[in-house]
Amino acid sequence: MSDSVTFSDLATAAYCPRQLYYRRRDDDRGLPESVERTQALAHEYPTLVEASDTALAGLVVPKPAEYRARLGAVMTRWPALVAPAETDVLLTGKDCRGMVAKVLSDPLAPTLVSPGNPPEQGVWEPQKVRAVAAAKALAWREEESVSRAYVEYPRHGVVREVTVSTRAKAAYRRVLRTVRRMDGPPSRLGDDAKCGACEYRTECGVRTRTLASLL
Ligand code: SF4
Repeated sequence: MSDSVTFSDLATAAYCPRQLYYRRRDDDRGLPESVERTQALAHEYPTLVEASDTALAGLVVPKPAEYRARLGAVMTRWPALVAPAETDVLLTGKDCRGMVAKVLSDPLAPTLVSPGNPPEQGVWEPQKVRAVAAAKALAWREEESVSRAYVEYPRHGVVREVTVSTRAKAAYRRVLRTVRRMDGPPSRLGDDAKCGACEYRTECGVRTRTLASLL
């Protein structure tokens, strides 16, 4: 499928299309080892929920007792996350393809694992777009509608559900169109928060307000 877009490209473009332009030009890099380690935690909940303070120290973000309580609540609410139907699955849909950490069977849903911090509520926009892409790819494979996906934040003991709503699908389609139409460097964002956290900010020539005020 020649114009199939990867989940990863889609999520990057949802953050900033210009960042995707740089990543593609650099042919990207593989996942850092630390990210892979964090992703592995999503497959170890039964062990982690009983782990000692010492074992959890340096591995998780909240205090160990808080972490165990959060994870216990997650496992009670979504037991299927502990015994998924499939793990580390490559999903290929009509428009997008990529890896998901788990596929749950009842109800049918993909899960993604985030190495980062969850927002106060819901998930970050690039994660929402990626989750919708994964849900649509799973729906394509199973020839069955998929109405939700999950984003797991294993270092925090937090899991968030993403509803594949009309609005979420519209955001997904918008980003998909942007990626497909990209044929040169897209405009800069002019978003202090995003640009300030971007690894390409020097090369991009963006001067964030915080940095500008220091110079
Ligand atoms: S510095 Fe800002 S505009 Fe440039 S690539 Fe990064 S996020 Fe996009």
